[in-house]
Amino acid sequence: MKYYYDLHLHSCLSPCGDMDMTPNNIVNMAKLLGLDVIALTDHNSTLNCKAAMEVGREIGLVVIPGMELTTSEDIHAVCLFPTLEKANNWNEFVDSKRVKIKNKAEIYGRQVIMNSLDVEIGEVEHLLLPSSNIGITEVYRKAKEFGGICYPAHIDRDSLSILSVLGEIDEYCGFKTAELADIKKEPALKKQHPILNSMNIITCSDAHYLENTKEAENFLELDTLSSESVIQYLDNNKASRARY
Ligand SMILES: [Zn+2]
Ligand SMILES: [Zn+2]
Repeated sequence: MKYYYDLHLHSCLSPCGDMDMTPNNIVNMAKLLGLDVIALTDHNSTLNCKAAMEVGREIGLVVIPGMELTTSEDIHAVCLFPTLEKANNWNEFVDSKRVKIKNKAEIYGRQVIMNSLDVEIGEVEHLLLPSSNIGITEVYRKAKEFGGICYPAHIDRDSLSILSVLGEIDEYCGFKTAELADIKKEPALKKQHPILNSMNIITCSDAHYLENTKEAENFLELDTLSSESVIQYLDNNKASRARY
């Protein structure tokens, strides 16, 4: 079956995420747009995943707990996990690998943690944007150790992407999937970087504002829909199956 996805969304926990990106607004907007599965991928934190997953369960939308990690090279990589517990274990690990600088909310924006009623229950003290000291060549294997997957985000962007920083995706990294911001660039990129021909290519919104959430136009073909089945799909080296 076709399941429509948007696997890269930020909540009000990301300093650059709009305060309207509350757990309820994100999940209800996705439902309204006809999506079947989303992932919450705040910068270097999973702390709003619990609330978003609870809302998802209530209204019947699969919410995968995730994170957009900043590697030591300043490359963004999406990490997804089959369960909240695994995502939170990863969160603790990443937290121990981050540079701790106090957030200046008036400059960078607030980093708000909410419950499933969109009530503020806390704020992350240290800025979530700086790079971790997890390297791009180790991040896939590390995420796997924690029971999840990892793949490079918005590889076609001019900054904070694996291609803008390194110029190539090395096979040694182990990535099975790559996320494109603009799917129209796929043919040209595949010519330039043949490794992409053996990877799943997906495209997501990277929405920081509600109105930027993707419409239901990109789908995965899965037998059944769950966090596990999506992660399994994205962790397979079958480029021919990749759909968007
Ligand atoms: Zn990013
Ligand atoms: Zn992002």
